[in-house]
Amino acid sequence: MIIHRLRQVGFGSALAGCLGIVASPAVAGSTPASSTTSMIHNAAHTVVTSVNVGATVHNLVIVAGAPGGPVPTGEVDIAWFVNGQCSGPPVASSGPLALDPTGQFDATTFAFTVNSAGFNSFQAQYLGDFTYAPSVGPCETLEVDAETNDVGVVTHVKDAGGTDVTGTTVTAGTVVHDEATVTRGPNTPAEVPDPTGTVTFTLFQGGSCNGSLVATDPNAPINAAGLATSVSFTTPTAGGTFSYLANYSGDANYPQHEADCESFTVAANTVTVVTHVRDTGGNEITGATVPAGTVTHDEATVAKGAGTPAAVPNPTGTVSFTLFGGGTCNGTVIETDPNEPLNAAGLATSVTFTTPTAGGTFSYLAHYNGDANFPQRDADCESITVAANIATVTTHVRDAAGNDVTGEAVNAGTVLHDEASVARTAGTPAVVPDPTGTVDFTLYGNGTCDGTVIATDPGKPLSGGTATSANFTTPATGGVFSYRAHYSGDAHYVPQDGACEPVTAQIGKITLTDFECPSILAGTAPALGQVTYSAVGGKIAQGLSPGAFYYWTKITTTVPNQVVTVTQSNTSVNNAALFGVLQGWDRVYTSTCGSWKAGTLIANGSGASFTIGAPGTYFVGIKYATKSIAGTVAPVPANLTYRFTTSLGGVTGGSVLLKKGN
Ligand SMILES: [Zn+2]
Repeated sequence: MIIHRLRQVGFGSALAGCLGIVASPAVAGSTPASSTTSMIHNAAHTVVTSVNVGATVHNLVIVAGAPGGPVPTGEVDIAWFVNGQCSGPPVASSGPLALDPTGQFDATTFAFTVNSAGFNSFQAQYLGDFTYAPSVGPCETLEVDAETNDVGVVTHVKDAGGTDVTGTTVTAGTVVHDEATVTRGPNTPAEVPDPTGTVTFTLFQGGSCNGSLVATDPNAPINAAGLATSVSFTTPTAGGTFSYLANYSGDANYPQHEADCESFTVAANTVTVVTHVRDTGGNEITGATVPAGTVTHDEATVAKGAGTPAAVPNPTGTVSFTLFGGGTCNGTVIETDPNEPLNAAGLATSVTFTTPTAGGTFSYLAHYNGDANFPQRDADCESITVAANIATVTTHVRDAAGNDVTGEAVNAGTVLHDEASVARTAGTPAVVPDPTGTVDFTLYGNGTCDGTVIATDPGKPLSGGTATSANFTTPATGGVFSYRAHYSGDAHYVPQDGACEPVTAQIGKITLTDFECPSILAGTAPALGQVTYSAVGGKIAQGLSPGAFYYWTKITTTVPNQVVTVTQSNTSVNNAALFGVLQGWDRVYTSTCGSWKAGTLIANGSGASFTIGAPGTYFVGIKYATKSIAGTVAPVPANLTYRFTTSLGGVTGGSVLLKKGN
């Protein structure tokens, strides 16, 4: 910096000619002298003798008259030189400028911006009035330094406590602001005032002040200490890197100045969201299979994640629960339960869900909604499987007396019905009520529930858990039939079929030996219901009643010399003995009972075989002795059904109960 100071050069009268100033008409020697002084102002009207490049200057001219005399009036003329000695022709002249009432003129209309280093000078001349003679002021030299009026802009990103966090990592939620202190540079001449103006703060995403804008805070004023402060910024829970750029506006003396970019990093606070699907008993059922009707809810516990600073409070806020169909939290939304608050322990609980009768797979998704310190977060998807409530459907085909004849053979003409009992299955949750609704009964014309439908009896209501079908009178010609009961289901139970229940209506018959072929032909022979016995020492005792019986049946052969065999079986589990044919009495009668032919005993005399010459209808009769089983091991169970049938099929069969008496 040039420190040389030129003394103000005294004005010689010869210089007036150099200025090209025309002398006033006042007469020298007869009028009082005036005195012209001037000083150089910068744009802020501060008196300067040296400025930096870029300054704008003008001249303040003061004209004094005689002591005690009037204030000079009239005009002054100012010349501007690009040298420091007011020498040579000026590069500009102001022309006449009228003095104000105090005899001054501050010539802001004749201002120059100095753009190169070196010396310039102003010189003012008073043109005189009717009182005072003209006068020429001194040459006012202006030194222009090569430097500009620089400023220093020092910045700091600070937290709310005033700690400088520039370049550091802060926790999410920290409230920060930027500060910029604008100071005069070392080359600024002493007479230049301190910087004034404003600072514009810009906050960017990313660390290099060129990312997307997060916030702008224009024109924050500088205080007396040169400090400007941005508005505050609450760092986001999601974290990230940010940067501030402070830009000083400049003022009349100082240029605009951009500070260095300041970056800082925000570490995201993390939470853990731990979830459990529970039943009303509080048992965890996440991933489990539960019965239909189980009442479930979801629980989510939200806690600070590892690495979150201790100073950060525990997570607060709410959890939104969504229940989906399917196990992967992307199916149909079944239920939403938004904004369930976390309690003091960080636990949020969803509303309950009663799992449907039909079962299925479901999934819960808990979503923490975040708070001022923590970002939102999804928990893991939790699935549960719901097993449908399946009632137990128990069925029985019964005769008019209520005997269970399911899978049995009954005499043709027996009146049957089906019964279905529908009950809760063991393990069905207590909250699920007993089954209600109706049962549809279907009667088929074969033994496997897939033949001709003979009768339907739909919508029979459950009463005391049991529904009963209409009656069915089995035809005189016999046949094989089956019932199927279909439970219709209700709000808590799925529909369900019962088992197929076959029953055979047989045309064969067990009779007392009082009844011979003609009574069978006439259909007048009553069936013998049972043979009674007693047991002694684990064996069947003598004295069974009756002592003998017939098995009669009607057959139809279709080919010549057809062999028809009568066999016998019982329902024991200990291979109880079969009845023996009495004295070889085994006959096949013609359709009119007009004649007969003997058969051949088979199977140790428990049955017989007949060879029938001509196709047609016949009656077969075999007489059995009940005492044939006396002395054999008592049957298990004690009461047994003995079945007699022909090789032509179950319809030709007959049966009798061996019943243990007193
Ligand atoms: Zn001024």
